[in-house]
Amino acid sequence: MKNQAKWDPTTGIQHMMNTVQDNLREIAIMEGDVTYTNKEFIKTAYLKIAGTHQFVKECDTWKLKPSAERNTEAQFREFWTQAYKLWHNSQQSLQQLGIANSVQNQQKIQDLEREVAAAKEEARIAMTLAAQQKEEATVATANSTISSITDIITAATQNSQQKNKDDGVNKQFQMLIDLIQNQCNKSNNNNNQSNRFNNYANWKLKPPTTTDQTMDTPDGKVYWKTNSNGKMYYWCDKCSRYTPSHNSYTHKGPSKKSE
Ligand SMILES: [Zn+2]
Repeated sequence: MKNQAKWDPTTGIQHMMNTVQDNLREIAIMEGDVTYTNKEFIKTAYLKIAGTHQFVKECDTWKLKPSAERNTEAQFREFWTQAYKLWHNSQQSLQQLGIANSVQNQQKIQDLEREVAAAKEEARIAMTLAAQQKEEATVATANSTISSITDIITAATQNSQQKNKDDGVNKQFQMLIDLIQNQCNKSNNNNNQSNRFNNYANWKLKPPTTTDQTMDTPDGKVYWKTNSNGKMYYWCDKCSRYTPSHNSYTHKGPSKKSE
């Protein structure tokens, strides 16, 4: 290490001061001197220490010392060896603090991750429960239905064993049939609706027979029917259906069959 080279404080102060000593000794010999001076050593080593900008307080303390206590290489070495030791300890403390902080941060991150995982798990359980409860609601309805049916059958059986079985059994079985039909209607609501629609569509598409009602119009005889609301529908040959808007004679536009 040359005297001009910057000093890295982590490499230790003893190594730096010894290197300065070696270099100054070499220069002194080259220049024909026996050795270097205290002043040369202190100036060179001090500039290296100050150049690190890590020992500002220590440099101030050194400069404020009475000149009698900062004149020799020995005094310099003693002061800066102690100052460096304190600095090095504080650096280690900072490093340990940094490690401690990073450990604490790691802990915080892990805690947060656990919280998030716990929240996710809670949400998953809640969703699963909700799904199960929905299923359970269906099962409960089914169980309640089965229970009701069982009760009715039991009651019916008991009634049948009694003298007045005719009324009782008929009444209970009617309740059972109603209940089952009610449950079936609930579960097959959509099917029933489509069946109703099909039935509804069927009568409209079924061609009239000679027994159907007719009405005389200026153009001719027109078959007609009413729906459940009493609305009149007229048969149209061209549409091949009962329609509320027109009949075979008043049909406008191309026939549906030829379309
Ligand atoms: Zn038509």
